[in-house]
Amino acid sequence: TRALVWLRRDLRWDDNAALFHALRRFDQVFCVFVFDTDILDALSNRYDRRVEFIHASVLQLHEELQALGDRSGVPGAGLIVRHGSAASSITELAQALGVQEVLVNRDYEPQAVARDKQVKALLHSAGIGFSDYKDQVLLDRSEVLTQQGHPYSVFTPYKRAWLQKLDDFQRKSYPVARYAHHLAALPIPTDIPTLKQLGFIATNLQSLPLPIGLRGAQQLLANFLPLMTAYKEARDFPGRKGVSYLSVHLRFGTISIRQLAQLAHKQAVLGDEGAQTWLSELAWRDFYFMILCHHPHVVSQSFRPEYDRVQWDEAPELWQAWCEGRTGYPLVDAAMRQLLQTGYMHNRLRMVVASFLTKDLGIDWRRGERFFAEHLNDYDLAANNGGWQWAASTGCDAQPWFRIFNPVTQSERFDPEGHFIRRYVPELAELPTKYIHFPAAMPPLQLQGFGVRLGQDYPRPVVNHTAARERTLMRFHFLSAKE
Ligand code: FAD
Repeated sequence: TRALVWLRRDLRWDDNAALFHALRRFDQVFCVFVFDTDILDALSNRYDRRVEFIHASVLQLHEELQALGDRSGVPGAGLIVRHGSAASSITELAQALGVQEVLVNRDYEPQAVARDKQVKALLHSAGIGFSDYKDQVLLDRSEVLTQQGHPYSVFTPYKRAWLQKLDDFQRKSYPVARYAHHLAALPIPTDIPTLKQLGFIATNLQSLPLPIGLRGAQQLLANFLPLMTAYKEARDFPGRKGVSYLSVHLRFGTISIRQLAQLAHKQAVLGDEGAQTWLSELAWRDFYFMILCHHPHVVSQSFRPEYDRVQWDEAPELWQAWCEGRTGYPLVDAAMRQLLQTGYMHNRLRMVVASFLTKDLGIDWRRGERFFAEHLNDYDLAANNGGWQWAASTGCDAQPWFRIFNPVTQSERFDPEGHFIRRYVPELAELPTKYIHFPAAMPPLQLQGFGVRLGQDYPRPVVNHTAARERTLMRFHFLSAKE
């Protein structure tokens, strides 16, 4: 018997649910990755760190599968790689290889769900089966429900129920290596297109402190494990190494969510508050996947429909200043420049800049959400949409609309010495800490002494926060009767 495992956002062999089930159920198992032109051709930017990350991870995975085959008595195993439309590539390959079934790990984004439905139908008409498995999340769309059988829309009770369900079985890794002798040797040697052949140019990915591929993920995890206990206190300070930086690896499946949950759980049950907090973040991740599955309207609309009556501003100049990190609020600018230069942004800063865009500049959260979608290495529809709707107060269990972050106070609290600002806004690097959070408050002559002229070397604040706050309260006020 033969099967084909179609890898998508699960670019690892170890603890991979679909691969495990295929190896256990079939004698000969092939693995394929498709550089899907339906997705790649739609990307407007040919400089995309994600494509390069995927490309490098695919190369590593091919090597790893070869090595796994060698260790398991199957020389010539590896990854088949295709470049084309996924639906036709998979159907043609499955037929050419003579497999009985194609196995995948489930994807939850509406476009991917539609694609899988189409592939399943095509395969079905060719007499080939299609099955999908839970791998990307710890607990699936309907595994955590209220006592009445409804999906949760508030996080705290969801997390309580989630923790109860997250038993040994749910955290257990799939022992893929045990069945690896069922890997199949490739019919022809693998030919992996170069980045250039895919139509993309090399980015600065290799120069970032981001180890890539499945080996890179394990390296990042090893760096983070000794820091996990301090996570609760350290996670809010972008200038410190307090978080795991694993999100891009979770996005592309170069690390298993079960491996992470197991490690955190082991420490959490011993009362380690850092591990408990980190495990909670993994619960947030599942929560937003669950919300997306049950409420797909959130992709383009507010979770709470009455919030779509909020009147946002066009404000093209303010929008441009936000996108380019030129708002005159140093923490916001540092965060946006970190995003542009590296594709990463710290969670605290995502909240600050999202709040700034929606509540200080009065711009629709959907525009910010799309901008993040283009620039974040770890862009994930579920978490990104959830995060933006949280900050804009339009989402489930969101920040109430009358709570508005003060970008200067946030900066004083979470970057107290201005280390982060100094790194990404070098023109302010020499300023005394007292003024680094809001240079506009410094007497101009004194500011010039540090080589900064507002409006020339660094922008004047594009809005006055106090006035902007008042405007936002008015903008949302019509909702107050309902709260
Ligand atoms: P850690 O602090 O080490 O957390 C571990 C893991 O938990 C993360 O890798 C992530 O998978 C998960 N996680 C942590 N916080 C959250 C959260 N609030 N919601 C969901 N999952 C979480 N995360 C993404 O993965 N992709 C996105 O596109 C994304 N967009 C966001 C947009 C906004 C406006 C906001 C406020 C948050 C967004 N997040 C997103 C959540 C969070 O900011 C990132 O997951 C986190 O900063 C990644 O860094 P890390 O891996 O070091 O996280």
